Amino acid sequence: MSVALPALQREAEEILPGVIADRRFLHENPELSFQEYETAKFVAERLRAIGLDEVQTGVAETGVVGLLHGHKPGKTVLLRADMDALPIDEANDVPYKSTKPGVMHACGHDAHTAILLGVARVLASKRDAFAGTVKFIFQPAEEGLGGAKAMVEAGVLENPHVDGVFGLHVAQWVPTGIVQARDNTAMMGANQLSIKIQGRGGHGAQPHLTIDPIAVGCAIVTSMQTVISRTNDPIAAGVLTIGAFNAGSAANVIPDTAQLEGGIRSVTVEQRDALIQRATEIAIGVGRGMGAEVTVDTSRGVSPTVNDPEMAALVREVAAEMIPADRVVQGELVAGSEDFSEFLNERPGAFFLVGTRSEEKGFVGSHHNPSFDIDEEPMSIGISVLAGTAMRFLERD
Ligand SMILES: [Zn+2]
Ligand SMILES: [Zn+2]
Repeated sequence: MSVALPALQREAEEILPGVIADRRFLHENPELSFQEYETAKFVAERLRAIGLDEVQTGVAETGVVGLLHGHKPGKTVLLRADMDALPIDEANDVPYKSTKPGVMHACGHDAHTAILLGVARVLASKRDAFAGTVKFIFQPAEEGLGGAKAMVEAGVLENPHVDGVFGLHVAQWVPTGIVQARDNTAMMGANQLSIKIQGRGGHGAQPHLTIDPIAVGCAIVTSMQTVISRTNDPIAAGVLTIGAFNAGSAANVIPDTAQLEGGIRSVTVEQRDALIQRATEIAIGVGRGMGAEVTVDTSRGVSPTVNDPEMAALVREVAAEMIPADRVVQGELVAGSEDFSEFLNERPGAFFLVGTRSEEKGFVGSHHNPSFDIDEEPMSIGISVLAGTAMRFLERD
């Protein structure tokens, strides 16, 4: 039996008030990365009430996994939401404002969680319409602490073996109601660059007796600009930013050390590796030339979010059956990063965006900003596209 997608969209619109209520509850009660205990409890209770076949909690500390089996065995599709908030003080004056000072859902992960609960609700009533299993993943710590990696390491891609992965992000830079699913790289990878310069301090009047880590650091920052201008393929976007330079405490003292913090962003994994290697070589080489010992740590990072073109096409195809086709686009590459890449590195799938920016309704605050807030209406599109994509994926051979 094949799914009638327009009916799915109507159903998503019908349950939208409940989904909005869930999102607002989560918005009022945000929790930081790997501390999503109450959120996980809320999610697990909802999934049990919906009647999923299995609900597992405490996966990678605060993650939740739910399983929904169709009427007969088949493939398994993974759908993922993230649950964490950010250390930001909410500036919005709304009834559902964060009740926790200094913690706020400023990236929309509250919406992702509510949307995926909505998908579970819709699909639970359609077991007869699909074969196989839908695996719902509610992931902790997307905001830089490696929640996706922890979930993959906890084994969520097996038992049952996952064949395809899909996820979404609400997007405040995309007009409301637009669905954006790109072939290949959708979002850039980001790697942290942490550089420690060990010099030798001394009196500011006796530089010849010192190894000045500030002078070394300046030379490194300047030389590193060539990583983008000379090492990077000009056709592919790349970014290198040093965002912190910490050294010294007095005007007449040359310090012992300097610490630089920065980041590298890239479109492909190969490009990332080349940029990281050259940046590291420059830092160490320039330091050595000036007598300092430099250590570089690039271990923390997220790889580019690379969609399988066939899977991205599936998302667009499903979306275009439910909303006007001119609202379904490939869109632009996003310089931000997403740890959904951890799932895409292991399985084919696609990560797509649902526009939530509405000038008309006044929802214009950007992500990671105290004034962030979304137009909630297109959450129904998030539900129907995720649910429809999952069913189509399971139908295909
Ligand atoms: Zn974010
Ligand atoms: Zn996010």
